[in-house]
Amino acid sequence: MTTLEEARRCPHCKQPGAPQGTRPLGNRDGHIHIFACMNTRCRWGPQPGDDRGETWLVQQLADGTIPERHKGEKDFPSLSPDQKSMAQRTLEQIRIEEEVERAGLAGKTSVEVDEQAISDDIRRIAGD
Ligand SMILES: [Zn+2]
Repeated sequence: MTTLEEARRCPHCKQPGAPQGTRPLGNRDGHIHIFACMNTRCRWGPQPGDDRGETWLVQQLADGTIPERHKGEKDFPSLSPDQKSMAQRTLEQIRIEEEVERAGLAGKTSVEVDEQAISDDIRRIAGD
């Protein structure tokens, strides 16, 4: 099972990210944690002039568990394992960021993450 200590690590350099705040999860009790890479040697790290690097989001339920969002390999027949995980992570990230942004613009306090739409997008990328 994934822990927050593992999930907060940068997807590229594996260094723990710096907490950037949280958002409520809309469809379940819990939070979305926002982390930023602070490792200047990482390609997600801060560029010269930036005070932080790229951010990523981690869902955590109210009981402290991190939902496992990876699908089985059979869902991605035309991609290598590395490509699959990268495509999925990128799509999850974009989707959650869009949802957070939309919720913020709409003045809502909750965020809905449409996991079915995410997996549909991944299948489309996989050419399925
Ligand atoms: Zn990093």
